[in-house]
Amino acid sequence: MNKQLRKAVIAGNWKMNKTPSQAKALIEEMKPLVKDADCDVVICVPYVDLQTAVEATKGTNIKVGAENCHWEKSGAFTGEISTEMLTELGVEYVVIGHSERRTYFGETDVTVNKRVRAALDAGLTVILCVGEYLEQREQGVTFDVVGMQTRIALGGVSKEELSRIIIAYEPVWAIGTGRTATAEQANEVNHAIREIVADLYDREAADAFVVQYGGSMNAGNAADLLAQPDVDGGLIGGASLKAPDFAKIVEAASK
Ligand code: PEP
Repeated sequence: MNKQLRKAVIAGNWKMNKTPSQAKALIEEMKPLVKDADCDVVICVPYVDLQTAVEATKGTNIKVGAENCHWEKSGAFTGEISTEMLTELGVEYVVIGHSERRTYFGETDVTVNKRVRAALDAGLTVILCVGEYLEQREQGVTFDVVGMQTRIALGGVSKEELSRIIIAYEPVWAIGTGRTATAEQANEVNHAIREIVADLYDREAADAFVVQYGGSMNAGNAADLLAQPDVDGGLIGGASLKAPDFAKIVEAASK
């Protein structure tokens, strides 16, 4: 219902892959394959590839995102990157709260919320990741976990700012494992996220809100997932590193 109100967003998450020269080559291969997309196309790349990606995508329909950002404007935060560093380069999107950040780098719902706030203040569009571990799904607490992650991450976010937030539902057990959620599993959690947005804001905001699915989405299963009424696009890891595969997903989202 109301899917026509939303434009699908297909975003690649390159993770810790591709040097700048490799990034340039992949983008050049990708450009002609996605140029007729009828969805938004984003590539989120490692920090050192951002400048190359921004230059290589100038004048195209491909937008560039980072994979994280810090909440402070500057200071003694060795190894971190500020939002201003991103926006000065021409970066428009940022992934926040990816499960790999939560699992390996101590990211919490509270630090996710701080990063979301900073990114919005800087004018960036946020791809906010939420999702449950396999044990949590088996214990029947998927909706509680995803609900809590969503509510805390959206703390202090106004209704007007929601147009610059995309939530990517990414069950942790499906990321990089080849084990995709079924289309029904993806849709029911995406739907629940939309209902939380309706509860926190209102129906209008929820109907316009983009909720992606991520977790082993690929050229073979994308059409089925993207056909679901509450799946408005995808956050793609492994398959975004192969231009023809990524282009097939973009094509599936354009129908
Ligand atoms: C991701 O990194 O967000 C992701 C969904 O990875 P993959 O597509 O490889 O499962």
